[in-house]
Amino acid sequence: MQTTIRALPLLPLRGILVFPYMVVHLDVGREKSIKAIEEAMIQDRHIFLATQKEAQTDSPGKDDIYRVGTVAELKQLLKLPGGTIRVMVEGIARGRIVHYLDTDPFFKVEVEQYCEPQVKTTQLEALMRNLTYQFEQYVKLSKRIPPETVVSALNIEEPGRLADIIASHLPLRVEDKQVILEAVDVGERLEKLCALVAKELEIVELERRINVRVRKQMEKTQKEYYLREQMKAIQRELGEKDERAAEGEEYREKIAAAKLPKEVEEKALKEVERLEKMPPMAAEATVVRNYLDWILALPWTKSTKDRIDIQAAEAVLEADHYGLKKPKERILEYLAIRKLAKKMKGPILCFVGPPGVGKTSLGKSIARALDRKFVRISLGGVRDEAEIRGHRRTYVGALPGRIIQGMRTAGSKNPVFLLDEVDKMSVDFRGDPSAALLEVLDPEQNSAFSDHYIEIPFDLSNVLFITTANLYHNIPRPLLDRMEVIYISGYTEEEKVQIAVRHLIPKQLKEHGLDKKALMISENAVRRLIREYTRESGVRNLEREIATICRKTAKEIVAHKAEQVRVTQRNVERFLGIPRFRYGMAEKEDEVGVATGLAWTETGGDTLAIEIVVCRGKGALTLTGKLGEVMRESAQAGYSYIRSRAGQLGIDEMFHEKYDIHVHVPEGATPKDGPSAGITIACALASALSGRKVRHDVAMTGEITLRGRVLPVGGIKEKVLAAHRAGIKTVILPAENKKDLEEIPANVRNKLEFVFVDHMDQVLETALVKDDLGQEVLTAAPPLPPEVTYQPMVQERPS
Ligand code: ADP
Repeated sequence: MQTTIRALPLLPLRGILVFPYMVVHLDVGREKSIKAIEEAMIQDRHIFLATQKEAQTDSPGKDDIYRVGTVAELKQLLKLPGGTIRVMVEGIARGRIVHYLDTDPFFKVEVEQYCEPQVKTTQLEALMRNLTYQFEQYVKLSKRIPPETVVSALNIEEPGRLADIIASHLPLRVEDKQVILEAVDVGERLEKLCALVAKELEIVELERRINVRVRKQMEKTQKEYYLREQMKAIQRELGEKDERAAEGEEYREKIAAAKLPKEVEEKALKEVERLEKMPPMAAEATVVRNYLDWILALPWTKSTKDRIDIQAAEAVLEADHYGLKKPKERILEYLAIRKLAKKMKGPILCFVGPPGVGKTSLGKSIARALDRKFVRISLGGVRDEAEIRGHRRTYVGALPGRIIQGMRTAGSKNPVFLLDEVDKMSVDFRGDPSAALLEVLDPEQNSAFSDHYIEIPFDLSNVLFITTANLYHNIPRPLLDRMEVIYISGYTEEEKVQIAVRHLIPKQLKEHGLDKKALMISENAVRRLIREYTRESGVRNLEREIATICRKTAKEIVAHKAEQVRVTQRNVERFLGIPRFRYGMAEKEDEVGVATGLAWTETGGDTLAIEIVVCRGKGALTLTGKLGEVMRESAQAGYSYIRSRAGQLGIDEMFHEKYDIHVHVPEGATPKDGPSAGITIACALASALSGRKVRHDVAMTGEITLRGRVLPVGGIKEKVLAAHRAGIKTVILPAENKKDLEEIPANVRNKLEFVFVDHMDQVLETALVKDDLGQEVLTAAPPLPPEVTYQPMVQERPS
């Protein structure tokens, strides 16, 4: 091979290698290199390009630079800002550094420049074809090199040049390129390059395969995603399925979170499945949804922790209620037993008493004492079994019964559950609510209470049931057997005053947003409220009146900027209007034919004036005032007794043929019943027929037999309190009721005179007015209307 020796400035290259025939731009910054370029420019523009072994080396020495490089011509020169020079060089021929002539201020080397022979042997031709073929493949696969390059490469005839051009296009490492550069022999060069291209081809092929695999995988997930999105869009367009699935999913999540008992969960999941199969707008779907909501809302497993601390319970009861000594004691005993026998299947408490005596609020206090939730349902007027047990889901608008509704409200499975007014349920063709209630209250059955709507048995055994009633004898018998009755009778005036001062007034002040100083109600004013504005056993109306005063006070404060309002005995009327009741005497004067009885009504005790008039007639007995059967019968009994005793009483024995008798009990709109008015009717009858007056300050109660015996009656405490309220002085009671006097507060007992009687004669003895000398006043004839003289009757009287 021909060579020429030349002395040339050296430009060391970093990370790049220039082949002959290659045109490249180089940015030159190093001082030594710039000087070399300047030298070249002075000479014939030729420069020797050799690559550094390590690109990082800043000022390379002789050994840091490859010996073989390229002789190149500087084509263009451009000064860039910052002192760098951009040069365009074109490779001319291979060269090898023979030795370094100079190293400072720039490298100057003696170079042996090769001149390549242009002969083309068959072997070279074969190698060339092989190389171009492989290169073609490579370009096809790698896509990194523009295909035109292949075309221009194909046109190259010189084998050495072909190798150099291809090598310069391939993304080879500098070391590999150097190997090609150093292969001065063309055959060797082609062979080496073929090997390199083959290797590259393999790598590219591998890359491609990896690529394909990655893409395939990506495509698959992408495709799925895309399809799913499309499916959703279609479903949305059709307006179904997707929502349903989402709803079902939502319910499933809720069910899982609710931790339902297994049986309930299974049922709920079955319903969800059903729901998913229905069109969302179907009426049936709403039914299922409602059902699921109910199931999820019920406290199947949730419960609160009990606090069974008798002292704490006592403190709570005392704080909430004034008086009520006996009921409180009974409640505490009951709680103590519950503490001892954890899962006691004991009786249900039943508070019996007139309205407003604190039955409901005692229930609330028990819940507070035990730290349990409290729910209350009223059974007043319930006449349908379905109200307790719910309707089957097949009915439109079906709902669970009140028990299950109560449990949902409670939100725990062990609340205190107050069943108000168990005595007010009634029975009709729709079934007997008390039978359903029996199942609720029966500890043997209520661990699996079945509601028609819910269908799955619900456990009520942890619930503390409390019932209330106004009248004992209206409570359904079977229920009564399971209950422990606690009577709460009415309050005395003094008790009411205390309750008002300690509880009702502070409570109402708070509810009306007033503070203690804004409204002062004197004790005497309270007393007036009790006497003249209410007539009741409990304190419900009293509380209402106090609320009225609070409202008016609030108005005065807001509208008239009053700072303080005082309510005294004298100005009560300003707030409440004229008094509603006359306090004091039930009757003002002694009269003929009017006797005061004592009655026990739902609202507590009351006085009852029984009036009788006698007129000429044919012996008819008329009873008016909405009297019940028992009361009518006892009036008949009294009538017969008087007839049988007419002689002794100085009454015309034939009165039953000559006179019509009318018995009326005022307040005619209120139904009245019971036997306890027996002696009162008999007394009034005796008075009316004999013309003797009845004492207005005497009140009485007692059942009468045909022979005139007086039998005991109930509700003594209520009745006596009512008598006291009405200003009665003497109370006639059956002798057998003497024991009941104990219940009556001493301050009331001491103000009254009690006469205990066995027989009707004793009643008349006490009740009928005696003359000044204490003699019985016997009037010969019944008082008749003025136009009728009673002369004829005198004549008719047997001597
Ligand atoms: P009931 O259920 O017997 O009809 P409530 O419990 O509704 O009566 O009582 C009516 C109001 O009277 C309630 O505000 C209650 O707090 C109050 N009350 C009744 N008795 C007492 C009492 N002994 N001490 C304090 N407040 C009472």
